[in-house]
Amino acid sequence: RAKAASRNTVRFFDPAMESVMMVRAALERDLRQALEEHQFVLHYQAQVAGDYHLTGAEVLVRWQHPQRGMVWPDDFIPAAEETGLILPLGHWVLQTACTQLTIWAARPETADLTVAVNVSAQQFRQPDFVAQVLAVLAATGANPQRLKLELTESLLVSNVQDLIEKMAALKAKGVGFSLDDFGTGFSSLSYLKRLPLDQLKIDKSFVRDVLTDPNDAAIAKTIIALAQSLALGVIAEGVETSAQRDFLAQAGCQAYQGYFFSRPVPLEDFEQLCAAGLRAPAGV
Ligand code: C2E
Ligand code: MG
Ligand code: MG
Ligand code: MG
Repeated sequence: RAKAASRNTVRFFDPAMESVMMVRAALERDLRQALEEHQFVLHYQAQVAGDYHLTGAEVLVRWQHPQRGMVWPDDFIPAAEETGLILPLGHWVLQTACTQLTIWAARPETADLTVAVNVSAQQFRQPDFVAQVLAVLAATGANPQRLKLELTESLLVSNVQDLIEKMAALKAKGVGFSLDDFGTGFSSLSYLKRLPLDQLKIDKSFVRDVLTDPNDAAIAKTIIALAQSLALGVIAEGVETSAQRDFLAQAGCQAYQGYFFSRPVPLEDFEQLCAAGLRAPAGV
């Protein structure tokens, strides 16, 4: 970045630009410190099957900032990606999630749960990503069959062959793959067919107005049909009402995630949910 700035000294002395850079530098410092001081925490959001039983959780990282309080991922993941700090952060998330899988495996009420972990494109593109995941699985004793990695379509813009090889290597060990935020990126349907995916995840932007916007309804239905014809699972994110859930179920959706079932919650709360079970509405 310093190099880019010196090539364009006019911009460097632009006060607005300078303050943006200072904010970024401060954020980077803060993020480094946060990693060292263990200020990150994982929240768990239920993933639910059509019959309302809880099948697993997506882990979502939060930053408990000593001054700013709880910071949401949209406010620090982009900076973590730009600075490369997403690599140690992502590794910590994976390790923590896999440790939890092993703890859950030993208790009857949580033994069958899966854990879905978000993986940034930058993280996945590391040459030793496969080895890292296998090392974490070995070190934590987590069952690879219970681990699901959520990838985004941004991975499809470069070196798809490398992507396929890494996915295949992990899949051979039992790790599952979900394509997150599906429909918002640039998936080519021909690539989609070649990727060893297990699941498409319908982005919440299509779910929000699925009952009122015919375009969103058409897109949601199309994604569900596409998943079916490619023999993939499909999960809808951002399900906030029973009416949205029912519409998606009618269209053939099999799995759901959203505030209607549970918000992302701290571990203790998620475990309570597992013990108590979800309340299915009458008739389901
Ligand atoms: P995502 O993976 O698509 O996660 C879904 C987001 O939707 C989460 O936001 C979740 O809290 C939110 N959400 C869930 N249900 C509902 C709902 O019913 N309604 C609405 N309006 N929102 C819902 P969150 O936790 O703020 O995370 C935002 C994004 O940050 C994630 O989107 C993911 O891309 C990224 N992220 C989170 N944790 C990690 C991580 O550990 N590693 C990486 N690389 N990215 C992460
Ligand atoms: Mg996700
Ligand atoms: Mg998503
Ligand atoms: Mg999303």
